[in-house]
Amino acid sequence: MYDVIIIGGGPAGLTAGLYTSRARLKSLLIEKGFTGGQVMTTEWVENYPGFEEGVSGAELSQKMEKHATKFGLEIMQGSVVDVSLSGAIKKITLEDAGTLETKAIILATGSNPRLLKIEGEDTFRGRGVSYCATCDGAFFKDEKLVVIGGGDSAVEEGIFLTKFAETVYIVHRRDQLRAAKVVQERAIENPKIKLVWDSVPVAIKGDDSGVNSVQVKNVKTGEESSLDVGGIFIYIGYNPNIEFLKGLVNLDENNYIITDETMASSAPGIFVAGDVRAKPLKQIATAVGEGATAAVSAEKYIEENFK
Ligand code: NAP
Repeated sequence: MYDVIIIGGGPAGLTAGLYTSRARLKSLLIEKGFTGGQVMTTEWVENYPGFEEGVSGAELSQKMEKHATKFGLEIMQGSVVDVSLSGAIKKITLEDAGTLETKAIILATGSNPRLLKIEGEDTFRGRGVSYCATCDGAFFKDEKLVVIGGGDSAVEEGIFLTKFAETVYIVHRRDQLRAAKVVQERAIENPKIKLVWDSVPVAIKGDDSGVNSVQVKNVKTGEESSLDVGGIFIYIGYNPNIEFLKGLVNLDENNYIITDETMASSAPGIFVAGDVRAKPLKQIATAVGEGATAAVSAEKYIEENFK
């Protein structure tokens, strides 16, 4: 029996684990992929306090994991398929490792990249279609690439891709970017970036060697054109990872988990932190704060309910 099981090993989960283990609660973190979450797939982070020169996503993830385990947090790899309540005890079922019991749960499962759902996206995944510039950018030296989206991820990762690519088209469905102003300015000043406004991709074309073009439609004129590119990087937002919860906690209209300011969900003893939570700002800085709050709330809940 654990005191706290944390599901998800990004900045929110690792911070929650740091706090629960320092509170001497028997704590386990379950992660299905690699610790660090989306930060691990981010090339460079320059808005996390304390790293004034910036830090790579991989290094920041490793530091967070090292810091959390220093105080006794256990980390296991596994995929959670079900969470249920049996009185005050919570049961977590893993795909291949049976069922674990815990007094409190912290959900920090984050979110997954949204798909375009257009022709060619599935066929060429891993052969020119990517959702991670850090992972795949270096394969496209001196090639032309296209990035889809106008948010922080699309524009920041588009700038990163200019390290390798000859040209990076950023295709956005409106005539104004959503990304932070400082990031927009950098993109506009970058001679390798070409912004394609009011446009959406409609098909990804290629052959046995992978992607060789992306068909783009102007949403104002209806006109279609083809961009000859070796790869397409898709950054059109994320969907929360909540499939295994099956109605256990209340969600908002976009399927993010609703909490109060103590990070409590609608289910007693289940707390939430990070990108899976309904909130206005998704940042590493906000995720770690929520992880800390969720941990302290879980500690209080255990004190009050398991005397
Ligand atoms: P986002 O902010 O939700 O932006 C998604 C972008 O994709 C938007 O520009 C959106 O267009 C476009 N889009 C959505 N669906 C589309 C579709 N079907 N076809 C074409 N375009 C589509 O997502 P994000 O950039 O991944 O960022 C997620 C969160 O993480 C945000 O809160 C962001 O601020 C944060 N983040 C922060 C940093 C940082 O601070 N350094 C870095 C990365 C991410 P519209 O603009 O028209 O809606």
